Amino acid sequence: MSSVKYEDGWPQPHRIMDAEPYWAALQEDRLTYQRCDTCTQAVWPPHGFCPHCSGRSLTWHTSKGKGKVYSHSTVVRGPTATWQKISPYTVGFVEMDEGYYLFTQFLAKPDDVVIGKRVEVRYEKRGTQTQPLFALVDQ
Ligand SMILES: [Zn+2]
Repeated sequence: MSSVKYEDGWPQPHRIMDAEPYWAALQEDRLTYQRCDTCTQAVWPPHGFCPHCSGRSLTWHTSKGKGKVYSHSTVVRGPTATWQKISPYTVGFVEMDEGYYLFTQFLAKPDDVVIGKRVEVRYEKRGTQTQPLFALVDQ
């Protein structure tokens, strides 16, 4: 098991090689994902091959950063002092308009996060890495 690195109290992502373009794009406030050139399905998390058809040709695309709440759960007691400061906070999956599911934190009061509500990406630097968080938006 590898140890987690922290910067300014925030855990930094474990950067697997397949996901390097994702983290680099986030530093420029761009949310990206992969799509298979063979079967055209969205691929997430990043892969070196398509999990749908085993195709070897995947291309990075920029997401519009929009979707809807697919699932959510509220953390009342954060695991570290930094998380405690923002508690309670709500995490969960966004069903992205491009057809994949992204795990994130919602920038909203826990009671306002409802399955099916529209959300849009917001970028926040935590440590040195920019992270994609999601805010509720009007339909
Ligand atoms: Zn495929």
